[in-house]
Amino acid sequence: MNPYIWFMLISTVVCVILLIYAVANHNSERSFFLIFSSICTFLYTFGYLLEIISPTLEAAFIGVRVQKMGSPFLVLLNYLFVRDVYGEKRFRFRTLCLLFAFPVFNLFTAQAFPLVRLHYTHIEYFWNGMIANCQGYPGPVNYLATAYSFVFVFFNLRRILNHLRGAGKQQKSQGLCLLASILIPLVVNIYHTLSANQLRLDLNPFAVSVSLALLLYSVRNQNLLNAVPLARAQVIESMVDAFIVCGKDFSFLDANRAAKKLFPELNTLQPGDPMEQVKRFEQENELCLQIDGEVRFYKVTQTHILQNNKSSAICIVFHDITEKENQLQKLYGKATFDPLMHIYNRATFFDRANFTLSSDKAKNCRYALLMIDLDYFKSVNDTYGHSCGDTVLETVAVIVKGHFRKNDLVGRYGGEEIVALLENISVSQMRAAVEKLRTNIENTIIPYQGNELNVTVSIGMAHSPAGSVHSVEELLVQADSALYKAKNDGRNRAWLYGE
Ligand code: GH3
Ligand code: MG
Ligand code: MG
Repeated sequence: MNPYIWFMLISTVVCVILLIYAVANHNSERSFFLIFSSICTFLYTFGYLLEIISPTLEAAFIGVRVQKMGSPFLVLLNYLFVRDVYGEKRFRFRTLCLLFAFPVFNLFTAQAFPLVRLHYTHIEYFWNGMIANCQGYPGPVNYLATAYSFVFVFFNLRRILNHLRGAGKQQKSQGLCLLASILIPLVVNIYHTLSANQLRLDLNPFAVSVSLALLLYSVRNQNLLNAVPLARAQVIESMVDAFIVCGKDFSFLDANRAAKKLFPELNTLQPGDPMEQVKRFEQENELCLQIDGEVRFYKVTQTHILQNNKSSAICIVFHDITEKENQLQKLYGKATFDPLMHIYNRATFFDRANFTLSSDKAKNCRYALLMIDLDYFKSVNDTYGHSCGDTVLETVAVIVKGHFRKNDLVGRYGGEEIVALLENISVSQMRAAVEKLRTNIENTIIPYQGNELNVTVSIGMAHSPAGSVHSVEELLVQADSALYKAKNDGRNRAWLYGE
């Protein structure tokens, strides 16, 4: 046996192995077309082997017939398989019948006279000393078959190239594998048609076997048949949320692009490496990270991956909630603070004051409630305009807020009135603080459009000693009454209720 026959024999044997392999691994319903394709590839290779070892035209033509049982279907089957790989909708049975109609017709025309005339105008037998060859001169069906093949090769290439664009690493290698499985037979076919091959050895059956091997390699190593995991991988890779898979011991397994951007350290990790930087977020539900100088908020969710009802790994998702958090903060600010004075608004002040005064700790604590009112403020508006009045209110609020301690509550009661609840303070301390505040405001010069303004405040004070029941409303009535007295007494002064 010469080397060419050996070569084709090995190709055929490999085909048989591939066919067995394809059948043995038929665990996906989408492997249907691949198995079909494996059978056709085997028939094609086996038929060609028969052809090249045949001693007569009749024997060689038997080989051609066997080839024609497989070869007409190959391109269509590859096309259908690629559609399956990319998870495209399967054709209905009627459409499939239409698609297969021509290959079936092609098969039958090649089987017997006189139909074979449609396929080959005439056939000659060659023996070049090494291999036999059944040389058929193409008829109309043969030309149609070539056109038919090129149409499906074109559709197939277009589909794969479309999917290759923007594909992730794994999808890219899958796409390239598919591409090679189509291009190799195509190039060999064109080469064989154009070249004046003296030996007349047709490499097409061999190329088709290589193509099948490539497809099976992909199926085995790249999970090609499973479009669902592929789709999932694509979605996860392109997710805005950071997605990390780790072992139960927080050893690194996998991470998507967003996760690697969030934690650049992940880029250097190999599966199995400890993942300290992420482990520290184990107990977190929400976290705040500084990314490129910008504060971002994340909601962290952990999902255990169960295998046989046992947790085998953990998926951690960092969902970016910065936009939502910023909006919430804005709403919180609007609902809590006065937009002009930047101190608590009336509702928040009362809520917080009530909460403070109703706590257990409040019973043993002294409190002071102050009511601060700007003197003759209306005349500021009347003289300089409301915008100037606003500036004055803003400035006074800053002074008042800065004057008291962190735990003291300061809010806008309304108009040009500010209320303050001071915690754990004696009457004398309160008097001193209030006097200091009053003189501070009196001595502050407020510039406004070239003018220098100077305002004073009157302050009503109410004090509630330790051990008494404190009520905001009551203290407010007392402070208001004291304020009234301070105003009547000439303004720019403080008055304590009950004095
Ligand atoms: P008194 O010394 O008796 O407190 O006199 P007053 O002029 O300060 O008191 P009055 O209650 O007569 O006037 C308060 C003024 O405060 C009336 C109102 O136009 C002004 N005002 C209330 N809220 C605002 C505000 O948000 N911005 C400005 N510019 N003015 C305000
Ligand atoms: Mg007032
Ligand atoms: Mg006033």
